[in-house]
Amino acid sequence: MTERVAHLIFDEKVAGSASTWDAVYNPATGERIAEVPLDDERAVELAVEAAARAFPDWADTPILERARVMFRYRELLKSHQKELAAMVTREHGKVQSDAFNEVGRGIEVVELAAAAPSLLKGETLSAVAHGVDVSMLRVPLGVAAGITPFNFPAMIPLWMIPPAVVSGNTFVLKPSERTPLTSLRLLELLTEAGLPAGVVNIVHGGRAVVDRLLHHPRVKAVSFVGSQPVAEHVYRTAAAAGKRVQALGGAKNFHVVMPDADLERTVEALAGSAYGSAGERCLAGSVVIAVGEVQERLVEAMADRARRLVVGNGTDSGSEMGPLIRAQHRERVAGYIDKGVADGATLVYDGRQHPTPSQGFFLGPTLFDRVSADMSIAREEIFGPVLSVIRQPDLKTAVQTANASRFGNTATIYTAAGAAARYFRDHIEAGMVGVNIGVPAPIAWFPFAGWKNSFYGDLHATGTDAFTFYTERRVITERW
Ligand code: NAD
Repeated sequence: MTERVAHLIFDEKVAGSASTWDAVYNPATGERIAEVPLDDERAVELAVEAAARAFPDWADTPILERARVMFRYRELLKSHQKELAAMVTREHGKVQSDAFNEVGRGIEVVELAAAAPSLLKGETLSAVAHGVDVSMLRVPLGVAAGITPFNFPAMIPLWMIPPAVVSGNTFVLKPSERTPLTSLRLLELLTEAGLPAGVVNIVHGGRAVVDRLLHHPRVKAVSFVGSQPVAEHVYRTAAAAGKRVQALGGAKNFHVVMPDADLERTVEALAGSAYGSAGERCLAGSVVIAVGEVQERLVEAMADRARRLVVGNGTDSGSEMGPLIRAQHRERVAGYIDKGVADGATLVYDGRQHPTPSQGFFLGPTLFDRVSADMSIAREEIFGPVLSVIRQPDLKTAVQTANASRFGNTATIYTAAGAAARYFRDHIEAGMVGVNIGVPAPIAWFPFAGWKNSFYGDLHATGTDAFTFYTERRVITERW
């Protein structure tokens, strides 16, 4: 029988009592590897109660001790990086190098959190009036909840948990029901690093469980990462329930290629961005705006690169791209290829004909040319390995085209000219901007989030924003 995934509450595995279960697959083989509970609302109560119980002692634990847990956790994650990456590849499908780098990006957030004694310092101003001093302290909120997507089973929980708990909060994580396994191992290692029971708890589930968390009176803050409609729902619902919310949503990322760009490097960066992790990244480049005379050369070189892309099981070291997450999602992405053709775009390379393993949820890389901005393949998030080329005469028109999108997660320009890069940087409407970088993901010490419909909230993930998000400020005015 397939393993049934347990919740992890107060350091105990809790089987729970769900009435609906979903299968977890290895997407590279199509094999069912586990079953996950979808609607165990009672487990939400237990997890929030455990976190609330652990809060007073943890909030009172000296900040240096909380930070030292992060130092030990960092070492444990480092020594288990390969094991964690293998878990990510097994339940998500991304190739090993990608999975290894994902865990590495998560470790960076732990390194950031280890600096909490510096980051959580307050402010003081003495003698604001005769005998009166003012100081500001940062205090934890209480129980925070995190709801994460399938596509980064290690990194995104690590965006949230280290800054939240090092700030003195306790936490309930609701990982994606499609990739629920890696997070359990992340928590086991955190416990091994010295985190007391109940400070972080994991409850599995789908919509019913999320909604219970969003309404729970003991949950003070909600961090969400996932698709746009759910981000908007989470933001509205949790904010209406009086909670602090940050909700990172979906994306449509535009890459502008100027005629003076280094073609070879640009093609590699674009292929990595559009086809890496099978396009299942919120930072995946999905529309290229080719400016002026680079158009023919770029389309030809990209088609050649797509043709040569090695698609296979992520465990094979030669694979450059793995499968999509589910068979149903592969059908959805293939549906976009049909729509692109029906809308009149030129199908330069058809991923459905690409050599792939016969089992699992594979789909090869696709390239469209002569796409117009109003087509669905240029407007909607496909979340698969489909790249669309829009042709434009100049940089200004290219930026206008990108800015017409309702999303604003990331955008990149490829150019050799400082003036073009500067114009792009100053005029593009996106939260994370790249210059000659295919995946401009900010390192942990900077804030991570998009603009427009890619983000709902004020304070971004990671960077100093995370510490402001997970703390309340208390100002004390004293006369002695
Ligand atoms: P998703 O929105 O389907 O699921 C995300 C989480 O929300 C999961 O934990 C899921 O159980 C829960 N959920 C799903 N439907 C719900 C509903 N109706 N009500 C309440 N909760 C619900 O997203 P996904 O498919 O797992 O992840 C891919 C999406 O995440 C893409 O759109 C991608 O762009 C986005 N993403 C964004 C970022 C970012 O930084 N902006 C990063 C990674 C992924």
